[in-house]
Amino acid sequence: MKNKKLKIYSYLALITILLLSILSGCGSSSQSKTVTKEKTKKPILIEGAMPIEVKDFSKKLKNVKEEKSGTFVFYKGTIDNYPVVIAKTGKGMENAAAATAVAIEKYHPKAIINQGTAGGHDPKLHVSDIVLGKRTVNIGSFKTEDKGKNQGIDPKQWKPMDLMASEGSGSSSKSENIRYYEGDKGLLSAANSVKDKYTKGNVVEGTIGSGDIWDNEIDRIKWFHDKYGTTAEEMEGFAEAQMANAYNIPFLDIRVLSNNKTNGGKYNPNTAVPCQDYVYDVVEKYISDVKK
Ligand code: SAH
Repeated sequence: MKNKKLKIYSYLALITILLLSILSGCGSSSQSKTVTKEKTKKPILIEGAMPIEVKDFSKKLKNVKEEKSGTFVFYKGTIDNYPVVIAKTGKGMENAAAATAVAIEKYHPKAIINQGTAGGHDPKLHVSDIVLGKRTVNIGSFKTEDKGKNQGIDPKQWKPMDLMASEGSGSSSKSENIRYYEGDKGLLSAANSVKDKYTKGNVVEGTIGSGDIWDNEIDRIKWFHDKYGTTAEEMEGFAEAQMANAYNIPFLDIRVLSNNKTNGGKYNPNTAVPCQDYVYDVVEKYISDVKK
């Protein structure tokens, strides 16, 4: 009798141990599955040229790890458990393109947002207004007219030069086209749907011109506005759009007006701070869209 009871107890103990080990085994394997899933998700890449344009954003990331490549700095982390990489590219087209290509090869981003400050080309826009780059265009690539000695220089006659034109050597009409890269529709829609959260100014769609130049000549700004349809200018967006296009990755340029020569808007680089708050909202919205 005593023996029988003992047998039953030991059977029960064995079954309990078996059940427990099966349950805990299931738990750990499903956990490791989600961890691998998180790890294999392609990150969103957010870029900015100057420290003031990325510092606040990098503080908003969870589990941040800093990595460097050349002069480029990358902050790897998460937003809402989704991987995000912030790149400090440095100023200008060359830094912007190189940093973007390096980041693409290193992190294989799902989408790229460039953000930061810009100068207004549209007199209706004011310092602190934000432009969503429905298009980006190169405003620093030209072919000049033929002129001899003492015939002067005539920038208004300069022709656009499309460096990605596949045919011609500069004299064909194709290379004189103005190339525009379109902002990605999914990113634009996320940006538009959270624009009410931005309280420092208006958020509008527009054309962002990029080149290694800071234009202070109002007539020249007007010339770009009329001929290229520019809403604002900066020094990186088009170069990054070109890289994103080369690798077929969705891209959007988001720029806050830090100055607007056309209506006397004085330079205020601190506009970069609330712009990062807005871009954070855009990224959260985009993440929730792609998770669906
Ligand atoms: N005072 C700043 C000047 C920044 S240079 C400094 O010395 O650090 C220009 C940078 O700001 C570029 O990264 C460019 O993208 C952006 N930018 C802002 N307003 C601009 C404008 N009106 N023209 C060109 N770039 C502008």
